[in-house]
Amino acid sequence: MHAWEVFRPGPIEGGPLRFVEKPMPVPRPDELLVHVRASGVCRTDLHVSEGDLPVHRPGVTPGHEVVGVVAAIGEDVRAYALGDRVGVAWLRYTDGTCAYCVRGAENLCPESRYTGWDADGGYAEYTTVPAAFAYRLPADVDDVTVAPLLCAGIIGYRALRRAALPTGGRLGLYGFGGSAHLCAQLALAQGATVHVLTRGAAARRLALELGCASAGGPSDVPPEPLDSAILFAPVGDLVPVALRALDRGGVLSVAGIHLSDTPELHYESELFYEKELRSVTSNTREDGREFLALAAHHGVRATTHTYPLSEARRALEDLKAGRFDGAAVLVNDLSARH
Ligand SMILES: [Zn+2]
Ligand SMILES: [Zn+2]
Repeated sequence: MHAWEVFRPGPIEGGPLRFVEKPMPVPRPDELLVHVRASGVCRTDLHVSEGDLPVHRPGVTPGHEVVGVVAAIGEDVRAYALGDRVGVAWLRYTDGTCAYCVRGAENLCPESRYTGWDADGGYAEYTTVPAAFAYRLPADVDDVTVAPLLCAGIIGYRALRRAALPTGGRLGLYGFGGSAHLCAQLALAQGATVHVLTRGAAARRLALELGCASAGGPSDVPPEPLDSAILFAPVGDLVPVALRALDRGGVLSVAGIHLSDTPELHYESELFYEKELRSVTSNTREDGREFLALAAHHGVRATTHTYPLSEARRALEDLKAGRFDGAAVLVNDLSARH
């Protein structure tokens, strides 16, 4: 099969990825083999390719927003049948026994493993997933539209929960890419007022089209104080900016797995009056199932731009340069549909 692999992590312009032929993966007894139909492009794939995240598996195939069909089943798996459509997401293993797992915080499991970082992901014709970590997908949404929900959507949902937005509250979104535009739709459907602060003109336009109340630049002051804010842009310099935009008691949640260093914080204007700064670490499977159900209920839809699987590098370059709004999705044009 054809697959992309990260053979030399570094700036995307320098070509850290190469497109190779390699043997089809063989599912372990607890795994599914998935014939990939669509694979969303997440900013984390860029972090893995550029070496912002340490190498966990040399030559890893990125991609953790995978929609495909079950092509083979490990001998211990009972819950899936050949031909079932499944989603493969970021979290692919937790030990189930540590203190975090036991209290329902498996996203903090020290033994956790991730698709497209610890194990080969969906920038390929085939991939594998432990059946216990696969998702069933709503039937009425096509492969390309549903793919970005699997990481961008789920992480945006966890970030929204971590931001503790009160009912009918005022939410600020810093950065407006794949994750934020899905998070905004859910927040709006639940009655929030949403202000977007981002640099791209296309992203600002999309925000207003989706029903956000305002869309300005990243350093602008939003038109009203915020009850909650989420930092989606991986830019630490925006942490104090967003904290200053919070009302008393407000919460800033930082959604990304990677953030450039934050500058010094000024206690009086940025933290006092019980403002809170929170990070978001991965997600639980429960987050994933809740979000997929809510997204189906509220009609949350990704704005997508498709690329053939063979042009993953161009998709990542365009992501880095901010050349599209919404989310990029790779479509497997190489192997016949099952
Ligand atoms: Zn654990
Ligand atoms: Zn992701």
